[in-house]
Amino acid sequence: MKLSKAYWQTYKEIPSDAEIPSHQLMMRAGLIHKTAAGLYTYLPMANRSLSKIQNIIREELDKIDCQEVLMSVITPGELWKESGRWETMGPQMLKIEDRAKRDLCVSPTNEETVTDLFRKTITSYKQLPLCLYQINTKFRDEIRPRFGLMRAREFLMKDGYSFHLDSQCLDEFYEKIYQAYENIFKRMGLEFIVVEADGGAMASGEAKTHEFQLIADNGEDTVITAPEKDYAANIEKAATRRVQENKLPATDLKEFETPTQKTCEEVAKAFDFQIEQTLKSIVMVSEVEGEKSYYLCLLIGDDSLNEIKFNKFVKNNNTRAASQSEIAQIGLVKGFIGPVGIKNVTVVLDESIDQDSSYVVGANKPGFHFSGFVPSRDSQDAQIADLRLAKAGDTYEGEPIVMKKGIEVGHVFQLGDKYTQSMNAQVLNKEGKKVTPLMGCYGIGVSRILAATIEQCHDENGIIWPKALAPYEVYFAVIGKSDETKALSLEIYQELKKAGVEVVLDDRGMGPGAMFKDADLLGLPLRLLLGERDYQASGEFELVVRKSGEKIKVKKEKLVQLVKAQLESL
Ligand code: ATP
Ligand code: MG
Repeated sequence: MKLSKAYWQTYKEIPSDAEIPSHQLMMRAGLIHKTAAGLYTYLPMANRSLSKIQNIIREELDKIDCQEVLMSVITPGELWKESGRWETMGPQMLKIEDRAKRDLCVSPTNEETVTDLFRKTITSYKQLPLCLYQINTKFRDEIRPRFGLMRAREFLMKDGYSFHLDSQCLDEFYEKIYQAYENIFKRMGLEFIVVEADGGAMASGEAKTHEFQLIADNGEDTVITAPEKDYAANIEKAATRRVQENKLPATDLKEFETPTQKTCEEVAKAFDFQIEQTLKSIVMVSEVEGEKSYYLCLLIGDDSLNEIKFNKFVKNNNTRAASQSEIAQIGLVKGFIGPVGIKNVTVVLDESIDQDSSYVVGANKPGFHFSGFVPSRDSQDAQIADLRLAKAGDTYEGEPIVMKKGIEVGHVFQLGDKYTQSMNAQVLNKEGKKVTPLMGCYGIGVSRILAATIEQCHDENGIIWPKALAPYEVYFAVIGKSDETKALSLEIYQELKKAGVEVVLDDRGMGPGAMFKDADLLGLPLRLLLGERDYQASGEFELVVRKSGEKIKVKKEKLVQLVKAQLESL
């Protein structure tokens, strides 16, 4: 591509809504254009990278016999009503009506569509296992679209769905797709880790699920690792331990006045306790078919509740913190809530609380707390569960954990029979009996990968594309306006193209300063320079590696060979 003819321009200004480097760089380097909040046009440079991402995905999935389809983006409401998700997807699903007032939605995901396809076309176990995938547009009306392509409303996703006769087959396929995902992200040249994720409260049995996370400072997810133990999980799932220091021996339960002290921190500070000698009380409501159950969750004073773990404990996703009025209704006193003597509320103690030590808890009386609360003695009916959110300082099997920020770019998930059951998809097994197949689903955030790659691979001057995803491989900069220089640059440009090198020729006649700035901003792996004066003096071109800054001088005869070799080594 000759830049003089390219639909490409760079920008100096950083748009005010671009908070993180990848978003700023994508706008400045002319990769994307914002249409409206969370809606973007992919410009030619970005579109080339997107194609490369898609091709890698296709090649690796095709290797394990997945087959590509393209489902409709608009899907009928009936299918979602069958699966029960018309209501539960919430406001992130964009619902529309056609002229005949039929319900439709812009697909946020496609389990329903694919299960419908399956049940209408597959009848026998002989056609299994089957994995269908697509690379298609999704729409999720995200509450806060941000960070450019990272959390957009409309985005490109690769979504795959597999069908199996039994769990052994599902497990075997899961291993294969996991491996394919590893190959995909390795080939892209990205630093990633695979973490255990949470299958949600309703997943049947031990449904496996993993997320592929790109490590980057601006990631929205927190991942926890214990490398020596070969352990990695996202924070929602992480089953780490804390070691409680400064335990207090068991003493008598004693009420004391705390007129203005309501939080654990305030009580600890005013009355000389350590924060870990206090227990925090969190009242949660779990609602099933309009029926509310109340839970008092107790955690060590400086811990926080992991709501996903709580949902798992109550086996319900429809839970929330109790409102002020609900707290009052069940006879608890906000600011002074505690477990002693309460009724109609299930007390759940986080398992890191020592059963035989003393703690400070609220006394359920305005202006009072108890000291000397000993769980094994004073809260005998309490249940014990892992409820806390992992945090720095925790250990996993004795090893101190490492916390990192990650960007979720892929997700593999065993769905079990959730959709095949609710949508009544069945096949005949060997014995001629109808059985409900099991499913897995496998997502990759195709457009998010663009943003995440840049988040991981950039410096203060711009993007540093990994070779596999770069829009082009070589930025050929030319300084000098003589006819000889022009002719030579065209000759080299053609030679490189003939040799299969993806090259852009900067023939815009810009000064070196501005041209190099653009080259660095766009961040192609190699920059080749033909400087008229240098070439006349030495007969040499200069090749610069974007990532390392390494500069290599090279004569015309060796040029193509060197470019090829350098690309090979990246
Ligand atoms: P997140 O937790 O980031 O909201 P998710 O778990 O809801 O994502 P999945 O349903 O697992 O997402 O979708 C598969 C993949 O699609 C994700 O791994 C992610 O890479 C990508 N993705 C999800 N939401 C968005 C979005 N709003 N913008 C861009 N990509 C997204
Ligand atoms: Mg996910």
